[in-house]
Amino acid sequence: TAHEEASASGGYRPVSASGARGPYAERFGGQLVLVTGAAGGIGRATAFAFAEAGARVVAVDRDGEGAARTAEMARLIGAPGAWAETVDVADEAAMEKLAEKVAGEHGVVDVLVNNAGTGLSGPFLDTTTDDWRRVLDVNLWGVVHGCRLFGGQMAERGQGGHIVNTASAAAYQPSRILPAYATSKAAVLMLSECLRAELAGRGIGVSAVCPGIVNTGITATARFAGVSGEEEKRRRRRASKLYAMRNYPPEKVAGAILRAVLDDRAVVPVTPEARGARLLSRLMPGA
Ligand code: NAD
Repeated sequence: TAHEEASASGGYRPVSASGARGPYAERFGGQLVLVTGAAGGIGRATAFAFAEAGARVVAVDRDGEGAARTAEMARLIGAPGAWAETVDVADEAAMEKLAEKVAGEHGVVDVLVNNAGTGLSGPFLDTTTDDWRRVLDVNLWGVVHGCRLFGGQMAERGQGGHIVNTASAAAYQPSRILPAYATSKAAVLMLSECLRAELAGRGIGVSAVCPGIVNTGITATARFAGVSGEEEKRRRRRASKLYAMRNYPPEKVAGAILRAVLDDRAVVPVTPEARGARLLSRLMPGA
């Protein structure tokens, strides 16, 4: 079957057995969904989950080959249309072109998932201004551009819509190793809350999804940034144990993203450690 074929080539597991029917298909069938960071990890799994529900999917990533592969598999899974766009979300002009092109070719996006993110950071005293810029440019500005451009089109059209921003449990859990990343995600969380209040009257929902540790490329890259030799080996051993223990698949985060839209949730902590965070209830009483 198409599922098996996609599974063999991309590690895809269906989010729900009833994806092709049920509430997801009712809500998302035929809708236009744009996912950034869709070449791998959570973004790819999210594109597949929407495809399974019968949505049309635009897979955006700076990794154009990966995005094309996602679109190809999304069609196999059942998306009535799936396209790939090679774009750096931090590049405002490129995002403007993307928004125009997508609107012209496919119409106004019904669901936007601002998911592209980067993890490279390090302890505060070891990070340079450039490190901070790189992280904030993608994780914060990428989301700002997406929300303004596609959210603006949704507001102008006047038929509602939904924006999901992939934040992180790092948004409300202080980190000694990822201060720039955590700061960027805290900003995404607050931006999501502000925008949710602003757009509620226009029928546009905004959700922030906060995963803890998920098995994707980003977790590996972030932990080993700037280390080498024995220290790198030591961290890799520790990390592999940690991930084996947690083993939280991106498909489950994708499922949480679809549910966040379906139920119009404000803040969604996904993995067990993200849900268990005491800080969340203090910072976000409504979550
Ligand atoms: P990933 O590295 O597998 O996927 C991230 C994708 O974003 C990649 O395909 C990458 O090419 C793309 N990307 C990065 N910078 C980009 C840019 N400037 N423009 C366009 N595309 C860009 O990692 P993932 O875990 O799937 O990450 C997805 C999101 O989830 C990120 O926002 C990340 O911060 C967040 N997140 C991940 C975890 C985790 O443990 N993996 C936990 C919490 C939050």
